[in-house]
Amino acid sequence: MYCKNCGNAVEQGAVVCTNCGVPVGGGDRFCANCGSQVQPGQAACLTCGFATAGGAATMPGAKSKVAAGLLGIFLGGFGIHNFYLGYTGKGLAQLLITVLSCGMLAVVSEIWGLIEGIMILCGSITTDAQGNPLSD
Ligand SMILES: [Zn+2]
Ligand SMILES: [Zn+2]
Repeated sequence: MYCKNCGNAVEQGAVVCTNCGVPVGGGDRFCANCGSQVQPGQAACLTCGFATAGGAATMPGAKSKVAAGLLGIFLGGFGIHNFYLGYTGKGLAQLLITVLSCGMLAVVSEIWGLIEGIMILCGSITTDAQGNPLSD
């Protein structure tokens, strides 16, 4: 990856750029993915299409879109996909509907989770609760 302030190549996992000292992810003048110059405020790199907005690079530790979608489809009744993405309020609601009704209303949560799982896989839900984009 590349420093978004000066375009210098930085090591994966580095905290600051060794060239300019700016924290990795800071700055908006270079693409973090390919190192080519971008205009400040530009939403994506014109060279590689990588999202640049607001430091919204796919960070190490980005949640997996496929994992979240499949969790929603198969374990949506327990809200696992929402816990995974950090939407704990929604996840808790789905879990409580299932648990407090002794499973009688589990179908409500399951359909809810199923729809969200599909939305995640189709790209309708693209970020986790912190606003970090999901990785493919
Ligand atoms: Zn730098
Ligand atoms: Zn790029």
